[in-house]
Amino acid sequence: MTRSSRLLCALYLATSTGLAWTAVLEFRYGPLWAAAAFAGASMVPVVAVVRETESAEPDRPPRAAPRTGPRGSAAADALVRAELAAACCERWWTSLGTDHDARCARRLPRSSAA
Ligand SMILES: [Zn+2]
Repeated sequence: MTRSSRLLCALYLATSTGLAWTAVLEFRYGPLWAAAAFAGASMVPVVAVVRETESAEPDRPPRAAPRTGPRGSAAADALVRAELAAACCERWWTSLGTDHDARCARRLPRSSAA
């Protein structure tokens, strides 16, 4: 985590604390809806802190390195065959699921694109 990230997290937590304190004051002296609004708003900077700390983590290595050799290539071939078998038509494949061949009978929707 960089120095600027830590400073940003401190700012987020200070903002969250201020909003939470305002929620308490609204709960005691103000309307209940305002207390609920400030309580909800006080959680937003906490989410920002979580996201900031997640983005500060170093990149992880890929889960599985690509295999080499006859067994790995057979698995890759099987994967490619399965993906091609699941494709609707060639135009659907090359247009990322937005278009179909004129003679395409299946007409899979875009949500089926991988
Ligand atoms: Zn198609």
